[in-house]
Parts: sequence; C-alpha cells; structure tokens
Amino acid sequence: MSTLFISDLHLDANLPELTELFVHFMREQAPTADALYILGDLFEAWVGDDDDRESTQLFINELRALSDKGIPLYIMSGNRDFLFSAGFVKRTGCQLLNDPTIIDLYGMPTLLMHGDSLCTDDVQHQESRSMLRSDNWKSRFLSQPLKERIQQAKEYRSMSRKHLKDTPEAIMDVNTDAVVAAMQQHDVLQLIHGHTHRPHIHPLMVNGKDAKRIVLGDWGNTGSVLHCNKIGCELKPYSV
Ligand code: MN
Repeated sequence: MSTLFISDLHLDANLPELTELFVHFMREQAPTADALYILGDLFEAWVGDDDDRESTQLFINELRALSDKGIPLYIMSGNRDFLFSAGFVKRTGCQLLNDPTIIDLYGMPTLLMHGDSLCTDDVQHQESRSMLRSDNWKSRFLSQPLKERIQQAKEYRSMSRKHLKDTPEAIMDVNTDAVVAAMQQHDVLQLIHGHTHRPHIHPLMVNGKDAKRIVLGDWGNTGSVLHCNKIGCELKPYSV
C-alpha cells in the first residue's frame, strides 16, 4: 500500500481529456491508496464553495466517492484554488490542509506545501498572493454573485497567463535559500511540493544532513503521481 500525492491538475470542465484522466485516476488508482494528498491547484480556478454548476459537481462527485470509500482525502489550496472553505469540506468529505503542514509519512517527518510561497524571487507573485489571501479581498470577492465571480476568475487567469509568459523561468522556480529555511524552521529532512510543474526528486543538505525535496508534476495528456511507502517515494506518470 502507498500514500499518493498529486497536485497541479488544473481541472477545467473545458478540457474533457483531462477530466477523463482525473475520473479514471479517482476510480482506478486512488481507491488502492492508504491516503490521497492533493497539494494545490486541483482546479484551474475555484470561485467559491457554492459553485453548483454541473461541471463542478462532476469533480466533487469523484472526490466524494473516494472519501465515501473510506480513503483519507487531504486537500491543500494552491494559488488558483485558495477559496476552499467549510462548504467544500462538506461537499467532498476531504480534510483541508494548511500550507505548510507536517505529516508523519511512514515514520519520516515530511513537510507539505503547495510551493508558490517558496518562489520568493517572483516578487509580483508574492505581492498578489498576499492580497488575494487577505480576509478583506476574500470576503469582497465572495459577496458577489456566482456569475460575476466566474467572469472575474477568467480575467485573473488571463493576467496570470501573461505573467507566466513574461517572467523568466528561473524567477518562477523555488528559491533555494527559502527551501532550506522552511525545512530548518520545521525541522524536517523531506519536503513535498508542487506548483512549479518540474517533477523531480532533488537531494540537498539541511543542517549538515542528507535531505530531499520532492517536486510533483502537473497534469496534461498524462498525469503525474508520487507513490510513497515504507521504502521510499517514486514519481510515476499516470495514463488511462
Ligand atoms: Mn500553483
């Protein structure tokens, strides 16, 4: 048995093949796991827990079906789906995780993050991150009708696409000092995060000890799943 980690699916009802891949994963592989962790950006956008569109409900149903089977389902917000709240928990049966969270992964203390907070060289992202995560911004956004929110999310998405296009790759990767600082602060030798879409297991040194930073992959034509068990962790592609 393994614990599975995924992130950065960026689910979008307008992408039927990705939707099919996710549904397949949730019905075939996820039910065999000890637990499933989703470390942010499960959705391309999340406009509020009251989003009752049929296309959204389809994704909710898959999450719900897994938790109804008794598989522990842990979900962390990413920078695109940071508006999960109590209503989402109620609809899916998941447990929401703070960013960061420390878990005991088969005896190994492991730090879980979405990863965008480690990209400290991307000043513009960090500025908009603190604005969007403020209670003030959230309550103002959520007070609008669903239709308005859907429209605004589209506008944010096109702004974010422009930022991605205009910003050099290196700026958008994690900052090495920020990684080591986070691992020291939480006294761990293993970190799992997503966000950068650069799946890899990086060895590094923390406090003079061998440590690991595991980066999850994004989903597109194929998925990317981290399998962890008592022996260790392995990144594997996922396809139908
Ligand atoms: Mn992200």
